[in-house]
Amino acid sequence: MANFSSDLAILGGGLAGSLIALAMNRYRPDLRILLVEQEDRLGGDHVWSFFETDVAPAHRDLVEPLIARRWSGYEVHFPGHSRLLSTPYASVTSERLDALVRAALGANALLTGAQVAEASPDRVALADGRTIAAGAVIDARGIRGLPHMTGGWQKFLGRMLRLSVPHGLERPVVMDARVDQLDGYRFVYCLPFSPREVFVEDTYYSDDPRLDLPVLRKRVGDYADAMGWHIDSVTYEETGVLPVIAGGDFEKFWNSAPDPGVARAGTRAALVNPMTSYSFPDAVRFAMHLTTLDNLSGVSLGRRSHSWAANHWRGGRFYRMLTRMLFGAARPEERRAVLERFYTLPEGLIERFYAGRPGLADMARVLAGKPPVPVGAAMASLAGRGYPLAPLGRAGDLR
Ligand SMILES: Cc1cc2nc3c(=O)[nH]c(=O)nc-3n(C[C@H](O)[C@H](O)[C@H](O)COP(=O)(O)OP(=O)(O)OC[C@H]3O[C@@H](n4cnc5c(N)ncnc54)[C@H](O)[C@@H]3O)c2cc1C
Repeated sequence: MANFSSDLAILGGGLAGSLIALAMNRYRPDLRILLVEQEDRLGGDHVWSFFETDVAPAHRDLVEPLIARRWSGYEVHFPGHSRLLSTPYASVTSERLDALVRAALGANALLTGAQVAEASPDRVALADGRTIAAGAVIDARGIRGLPHMTGGWQKFLGRMLRLSVPHGLERPVVMDARVDQLDGYRFVYCLPFSPREVFVEDTYYSDDPRLDLPVLRKRVGDYADAMGWHIDSVTYEETGVLPVIAGGDFEKFWNSAPDPGVARAGTRAALVNPMTSYSFPDAVRFAMHLTTLDNLSGVSLGRRSHSWAANHWRGGRFYRMLTRMLFGAARPEERRAVLERFYTLPEGLIERFYAGRPGLADMARVLAGKPPVPVGAAMASLAGRGYPLAPLGRAGDLR
C-alpha cells in the first residue's frame, strides 16, 4: 500500500514542475496533483527572465502572478552601436514562485524535503522508503548535462547590488558587450530592480565550463566601478553553467534516462532554446499543453512528452546551426560580431527568434548579408565536434 496517491505526481519543484502544478491547479481542478521537491523551498535560487512576447496571449494568465518586476523595453550595447528595443521584459524570482505555488496548491498537494529515488509511469519511490501511487508521473527533476549532445556553454555569475546612490538605469541592459572579451564572447547583463538595486550578471559564451567565482565577482565589481556605482552590499548571488547545443542525437539522449517510459518536462526533456539555454517559454507552453490532455495515464503521458520533446528538438535545428556558427568563430571578437549584427535586425524578427518561432524569411534574414563568420566554414569547424555536454559534474549542472 502506497503512502500517497494522486492522479498526477510531478517530480521536481523547479521551474517546469512548478509551472505544471500551477497550470493543472488552475485549469484541471478535477485532478489530484502531488508536487515532490527534494529541497525545502521550491525553485532554488533563480531570477528567470523572459521577453513578454515569448509567452502566448492565451498563456499570460498563468505567468502574470509570478512576475516580480517588468519593464517596458530593454537596451543592448556593442562597441559599434547601442539600441533601445521596445519589447517588454519581465523577471520571475524563485521566492515568488515558491510563495504562489504553496498558496495555490495547499499542503496536501505538496511534498517538500522529499527526494525521489526511482520512478515508473505510475509509481514513485522516495529515498526514505515512502511510495506514491499515481495515475501518471512526470519527471521535472532538471538534469546534469545533456548526454549524447555537443556544443559549448553559457556561464555566468550574477549579483544583486544595493547601491548608495541611484544607478540611473531605466530598463534592463540585456547585453553590454563593450566589456573586454575574455574566455569566449563576454557581456554584462543588468536588471534594475529598484532605483538603488541592480542585478549585474557577468556572462560568457565559452568553450570551457569552469567558473572562477572570485574572478567573476571582481569583474562584477569592476563593471559597477566603471558605471560609477558605489556598492553598499550584495544581497543575492546566482551562478549558472548552461549547455549551448550545437548538435546531438535526440533519441539516444531520450533513451539514456534512468526511468524508461516516464514522462519528462523542462530541462530533463531538453525543452530549452539550444542557443540561449533558456527554458522559460517552453516550460510555459508545455505546462499549458498538459492541461488540454484527456488521457492522463502514465504510459500515454510518457509517449506524449516524448513526441513533444522530439518535435521541439526538430524545431531547434536553426538554433543549433547558429550555435555552430557562434562557436565556430575562434576569436571572441568574432563571436561578438555575430551578436552585434543580430541586434541590427528588425525588432519583430528578434522577438520571434527569442520566442522560438522564427519564420523562414527570418532565418534567411539572419543568415543573409555578410555574417562575420562564413556559415560554411563555421559549420565545418564544429561539425561532428563541439564538446560533449555530459557529464559535466557539479560546475556544469544544467539547473
Ligand atoms: C542561475 C540560473 C539562471 C537562469 N536564468 C534563466 C532565465 O532568466 N530565463 C530562462 O528562461 N532560463 C534561465 N535559466 C535556465 C533554465 O530556465 C533554468 O535552469 C530552469 O530552472 C530549468 O528548469 P527545470 O524545471 O527544468 O529545472 P530546475 O529549475 O533545476 O528544477 C529541478 C528541480 O528538481 C529538484 N530535484 C532534483 N532531483 C530531485 C530528486 N531526486 N527528488 C526531488 N526533487 C529533485 C531540484 O531540487 C529542483 O528544484 C537559468 C538557469 C540558471 C542556473
